[in-house]
Amino acid sequence: MNLNGPSHASQFLRSRIAKVCVAIAGATPTEMIEKATVAVKEMPFLEFRLDYLEKPLLALPRFKQFFAENTAATVIATCRRTVNGGKFAGSLTAELEILTKCAAAGFHMVDLELESAEALKKADLQMLRETGIGLLISHHDFTGTHDLDGIFNRSEAFSPDFIKVVPTAKALFDNVTLIRFLERMNDNSNLIGICMGDAGIISRVLGVRAGSAFTFAAATVGEETGPGQIAARTLIETYRIDQVDAATKIYGVAGNPIRSSLSPIMMNTAFRRETVNAVYLALQTNKLSDLLKLVHDIPIQGVSVTMPLKQEIMAHLERTDPLSARIGACNTVLRAQDGKLYGFNTDVAGITGPLEKRMPLAGARVLVLGAGGAARAAVFGLREKGANVFILNRTAETAQKLARQSGSKTIKKEALAKTSFDAIINATPVGMAGNKAAPLLEAKDLNTKLVFDLVYNPLETPLLHLARQMSIPIITGVEMFVHQGARQFEIWTGKPAPEEEMFRVVLHVLRQQAEAAAAEAVESKPEAKQKPSAKTVAKSATKPKSEAKQKADAKPKPVAKPKPVANPTAKPPAKKAAKPQPKAKPAAKSPAKKSAAKAKK
Ligand code: NAP
Repeated sequence: MNLNGPSHASQFLRSRIAKVCVAIAGATPTEMIEKATVAVKEMPFLEFRLDYLEKPLLALPRFKQFFAENTAATVIATCRRTVNGGKFAGSLTAELEILTKCAAAGFHMVDLELESAEALKKADLQMLRETGIGLLISHHDFTGTHDLDGIFNRSEAFSPDFIKVVPTAKALFDNVTLIRFLERMNDNSNLIGICMGDAGIISRVLGVRAGSAFTFAAATVGEETGPGQIAARTLIETYRIDQVDAATKIYGVAGNPIRSSLSPIMMNTAFRRETVNAVYLALQTNKLSDLLKLVHDIPIQGVSVTMPLKQEIMAHLERTDPLSARIGACNTVLRAQDGKLYGFNTDVAGITGPLEKRMPLAGARVLVLGAGGAARAAVFGLREKGANVFILNRTAETAQKLARQSGSKTIKKEALAKTSFDAIINATPVGMAGNKAAPLLEAKDLNTKLVFDLVYNPLETPLLHLARQMSIPIITGVEMFVHQGARQFEIWTGKPAPEEEMFRVVLHVLRQQAEAAAAEAVESKPEAKQKPSAKTVAKSATKPKSEAKQKADAKPKPVAKPKPVANPTAKPPAKKAAKPQPKAKPAAKSPAKKSAAKAKK
């Protein structure tokens, strides 16, 4: 079947569309128009999801009015039926009637599912084309990534203005399949390709880089109309989709779960600030083989490795720094030009760095709570700096094993009340948002000059709150998070990391999240409004003042033999930053050094 060729609207449409089309959905036309009115100011390319409305036909006059008032808007009408994954419960005939009337209402293009196009009579489709409205043929596969070429060929038979192929990524490698498909079809500038699902998040950025005419985004976080969809503002501001091109280097954070990771916003902010042509993506997977295939195929220049892959990846690295080898875990992978992977552990610096700004570690007495991955980084890092480390863990055997491996001691909870420390580090999830476990320590156990909680959400954990009440200086987990990320940035780029900016953006997001959660809690418990709300508490823990002031608050009151305290918000001195690699010599010549040197040129 080959009806009219691409409509005369085709060229016109190409000149009007942007890289991001914002999906507008709402239960009523008023709600949709309100959302569209906000979106159109910055992003005039929109998709109206008519299938979210109870009676789409009745809404068309309202939308016509919107178009008259917003002439810059270019709008796609979508009325996807439930059989094709949408919300419209009507028949195919009813869908066609709505889409046909969309032309007169002022829409620029309609989205018609491939299955619907194939089911329609030739004359009916002809009627739609004769309205002159642009036609986008779409195909959504909710089961996986299959036969993209076949779908394209079936769609092309209708000579549409645009073809949209949307499989589901069940694994990271499905993104590679889509990207290769888009690259193969590069002559076809009217093709859109996206992988749905959390594992497909990267396709929303890399698809455009590989030739997708545009991509779809949610109006705001929480208003997603498809699995894995990203908010438009995030795509534009965090991922800088308008600037992503073939030369853009790709980095990412790999693990599971990864969707809520703050690493993308922190690292993309750093890349933007330092004008590095790179993008940092969320790589959702719990299969190492999947990640490794992606890293080699795309190719990805560097990966932040999180749970559950930190240990498993060790066996696949060409070389690691000695500390990673001793800890048995790596959180930073650098892909050298020869394709080989080199591993580093910046969690160590994320813990020892903030501590060293406050106290000399040689000879310091430090209690570490926990004996898992983060605790191992803390213990080995501290031992390397000459600290005397005491380990307390729920499972005593794990603590004993770690103590043996690292030359530390174990300690029992009962002994804490009569033992003093220079620092106590919490390396367990106790205190983390959603973790219901009882606090590990009481006031009588805090005979210490400093408390460092590696947990960073909430910003002020119960342990930090207790320490503050006792006027004990604290370090928040955000500082570790930013510090380890900053070292990764330096390993990958050879440039000093904009640590202050990274800290600012992470703090901002965490504060927003805390306030949103607190507001939600207050809404669901109206009586709580009388008491000091969680929101107030969250604010007082974070609102503080500038982040410089907040960091200053976390600085210790005079501790034994303090070293001159560096301003934690100041940029790291260039000399130090230019040597981001772990201090101990890597087992052999570090490729990171070579690559960092190259990057500097
Ligand atoms: P992990 O490998 O799973 O280890 C968890 C440790 O906590 C284990 O020693 C475990 O004891 C102990 N633990 C768990 N639940 C406990 C409970 N209810 N009571 C007492 N002990 C408990 O996790 P991880 O990777 O080390 O991470 C630990 C925490 O550090 C994370 O939750 C995260 O918040 C934080 N972290 C922060 C950063 C950052 O950048 N700020 C980076 C990494 C980690 P058992 O041996 O008895 O199971």
